[in-house]
Amino acid sequence: MTEEIKSWLTDMDGVLVHEGYALPGAAEFIARLTELDRPYQVLTNNSIFTPRDLSARLAASGIKVPEERIWTSALATATFVAQQMPGGRAYVIGEAGLTTALYQAGYIMTDVDPDYVILGETRTYSFSSITRAIRLIRDGARFIATNPDPTGPSTEGPLPATGAVAALITKATGRSPYFVGKPNPVMIRAALNRIEAHSETTAMIGDRMDTDVLAGMEAGLRTFLVLTGSTTEADVEKYPFRPTEVRPSIAELIDRV
Ligand SMILES: [Mg+2]
Repeated sequence: MTEEIKSWLTDMDGVLVHEGYALPGAAEFIARLTELDRPYQVLTNNSIFTPRDLSARLAASGIKVPEERIWTSALATATFVAQQMPGGRAYVIGEAGLTTALYQAGYIMTDVDPDYVILGETRTYSFSSITRAIRLIRDGARFIATNPDPTGPSTEGPLPATGAVAALITKATGRSPYFVGKPNPVMIRAALNRIEAHSETTAMIGDRMDTDVLAGMEAGLRTFLVLTGSTTEADVEKYPFRPTEVRPSIAELIDRV
């Protein structure tokens, strides 16, 4: 017999919001978690924004998520490196979401002899910063990237994202990064620790098989795939693993809280 679900992890884009608009049932689902005082975290591989920025963006679309309920790949990366090498030094390509998280984790940002090169998302990748990263990795810095996503969404079409820039650096150095964000179950386990939740009694909601469902499954969670994002019901059959359940949207999960 399966145990009841006591805690929830949910992806953000394609589950709660799409291009700044709340998806059906998202605000009600979060309101229900809040009302019943259920532990939860909203997960995103986006490393551009701080949790405070994301909380404000969600509030603008009508979804009330306090900043401490948001877990980004930038926070997961900062937590990871701070555990691996406390008080280390990093050369960082990224935005405030990543640099703020690293400062708060006790890291020093430097372009001289860093322990790590840490690559995150930006909208202004510069040739000179990529060149610097390549040289530092060749000189022995360890290579970390916040997330493997090759592209990100925009209203005009796809944008090259962290995974694509990581591939460029890999080609130039012969070194692959360690990706901390989804589908790495490290991102899921750190989110569980944050709310003192256990895998057997936690569910993960996502709109992607290759990130959300994969990471949730590998971390031992129950997984719900919703069809409001980038996956159709027919796509599910192409994967060698399955979500626990497929639901049309998060609206159909409100009464499971
Ligand atoms: Mg998504």
